[in-house]
Amino acid sequence: MEQTFIMIKPDGVQRGLVSPIPRLYTEQPLRACLNLAIGFCSGLLEPSLIIGFVFAISLLQIGDIISRFEKKGYYLKAMKFMNVEKSFAQQHYADLSAQPFFAKLVDYIISGPVVAMVWEGKDVVLTGRRIIGATRPWEAAPGTIRGDHAVEVSRNVIHGSDSVENGKKEIALWFPGGLAEWKSNLHPWIYEN
Ligand code: GDP
Ligand code: MG
Repeated sequence: MEQTFIMIKPDGVQRGLVSPIPRLYTEQPLRACLNLAIGFCSGLLEPSLIIGFVFAISLLQIGDIISRFEKKGYYLKAMKFMNVEKSFAQQHYADLSAQPFFAKLVDYIISGPVVAMVWEGKDVVLTGRRIIGATRPWEAAPGTIRGDHAVEVSRNVIHGSDSVENGKKEIALWFPGGLAEWKSNLHPWIYEN
């Protein structure tokens, strides 16, 4: 079984950690009141519309990102929520150190906490990259995480290993203590072997 390193970057955390509904009420009270009024009126017609309406204002959530991998049939093998040191970010992105945007990229990764994860499953490296979408969000297909939730290449929400080999390196760097050992009871319903 293949493994990949996935990281929700600081912008993904900032935009998703706090539930969008209470945030809407504290940050945009007028819009929240309008939403409530529309919700109330539509609820008079059809109560299930209120539920649909509440979901419609949901923004990006960490849980949404995690559930995309989970629903697909991949197994979470490790996860931690952490701030990254500058030298650690430089090490993670060492392959890009010659790029003109390297310093900016490092500053971005250390600008807030990240969610670091390891996911396991058949072809998880390539399929994980497809779930994430193209590096430049304007090239990322709708339905992908970056296609649905990002605009700028320098704020593209999530990282995924680009090869099995790099996945191994990144997992060793981020999770030197090893991974959780487990197998879902649903395994035979998802995989042939
Ligand atoms: P990824 O594997 O799809 O994340 O893309 P890369 O490995 O090529 O680049 C790593 C990260 O650097 C990307 O996810 C972007 O956040 C950032 N990045 C890539 N290209 C650019 C760029 O041209 N400008 C800036 N500011 N950031 C970039
Ligand atoms: Mg990359």
